[in-house]
Amino acid sequence: MNKLLLLKQYILSKYLRRFESRKTIQVYQNKKIEKHLAFVLTHSPFYRNYYQDHQLEWESLPVISKREMMEHFDEINTVGISKEEAFQLAVKAEKSRDFSPKINTVSIGLSSGTSGNRGLFLVSEKESAMWAGEVLAKLLPGSLMKEQKIAFFLRANNNLYESTKSRKISFHFFDLVEDLKTHQNRLHELKPTIIIAPPSMLRMIAEWKENNIIDITPKKIISVAEVLEDVDKAFIEEIFQQTLHQVYQATEGFLATTCSHGVLHMNEDIIAIQKEYLDEEKGIFVPIITDFTRRTQPLIRYRLNDVLIERQTPCPCGSLFLALERIDGRCDDIFYGVHEQTGEQHMLFPDFIRRAVMLSYEDILEYKVTQKDLFLIDIKLKVKNENSMAEAKVKQELEKLWKEKLLVLPQITFTKYDLITSERKRKRIENVIKEKAKHETI
Ligand SMILES: [Zn+2]
Repeated sequence: MNKLLLLKQYILSKYLRRFESRKTIQVYQNKKIEKHLAFVLTHSPFYRNYYQDHQLEWESLPVISKREMMEHFDEINTVGISKEEAFQLAVKAEKSRDFSPKINTVSIGLSSGTSGNRGLFLVSEKESAMWAGEVLAKLLPGSLMKEQKIAFFLRANNNLYESTKSRKISFHFFDLVEDLKTHQNRLHELKPTIIIAPPSMLRMIAEWKENNIIDITPKKIISVAEVLEDVDKAFIEEIFQQTLHQVYQATEGFLATTCSHGVLHMNEDIIAIQKEYLDEEKGIFVPIITDFTRRTQPLIRYRLNDVLIERQTPCPCGSLFLALERIDGRCDDIFYGVHEQTGEQHMLFPDFIRRAVMLSYEDILEYKVTQKDLFLIDIKLKVKNENSMAEAKVKQELEKLWKEKLLVLPQITFTKYDLITSERKRKRIENVIKEKAKHETI
């Protein structure tokens, strides 16, 4: 690990890189992207081909998604690593739980997802040092010289995370596939100052603390990898008596982090964000990202599969980076309804569903709403004082949502709340319809 590079990136990000206006951010990004594109077009056969008939104004170049990224993996990356080779190594690492092997000096990561839909990512040693510097600058409370014990809960470890180690900062990987008792013992013994975990795991840790199973007082808690729902956020914050922070990090990069006010800001000093609005008035959009630092596996105008909601008011912290109200969910989890008159399918964003559930009844502790088909919604509720009123209220609020948009009312069923933290990502709002709408309208 190139510690010097890590430190340089840390200092740059934490102390030196300052922007006075949105305009200066844009000027900075344009300059960086122009230089980056020159490199990418020379070294990536895919992009050279893909862009050959286009003027090189980056803002309007053709978009790519995960599908193209995986389909053309071999020609996109600039280090000549084949998908086959990378995939084999990543799967082997995941099975053996030994995540140290690399191809030459390149680390391989594998995103979670259904088989056949998993993303592979490549990070060079230099990029990994820069990534670590950037992450530490944005996440560490206080200075780099302060001692920190970081507990990191992940589905798979990666060289990338290991690289953040130093004398002052110790990094402890908690494998999410391990049993809960092991986690309890290790946490209790380690007494981490920082915990980074998916919200479903954080909620469980908070429950352990509440029930005096473990005694820990972390200084900072960071939610990653799953959508953070208000119901979980409130619970975790109450138990630990602090603001819960978030990192929006995907195989595609280090995308956003919360500021001191707990507001998510996109990391516009390392990636440029363009918005593909789904509902402009409400600020709901799908991000198209251009990363101008990663050279090994370049991401230019890459459309993420996420729905984000922008914040309507400036953040009190003063940062000019795009502020988010929330990460709403995956595009695949948008609900659909059928219009009474036209028969067209209309989108219902997770945010609408979440609000309807949470506003309907105040004693809801946990919930899960699943769209099973266009006319069938299943709900699981966990309520403070078991009360049959809750189901009727939730049903009423959801139906109101469908009625307002003149959509045919779905059948709403209630089943027992039986969810436990498992290896699978937990979603509170999920669409499990296999064939999604072909003609989407709002
Ligand atoms: Zn802020």
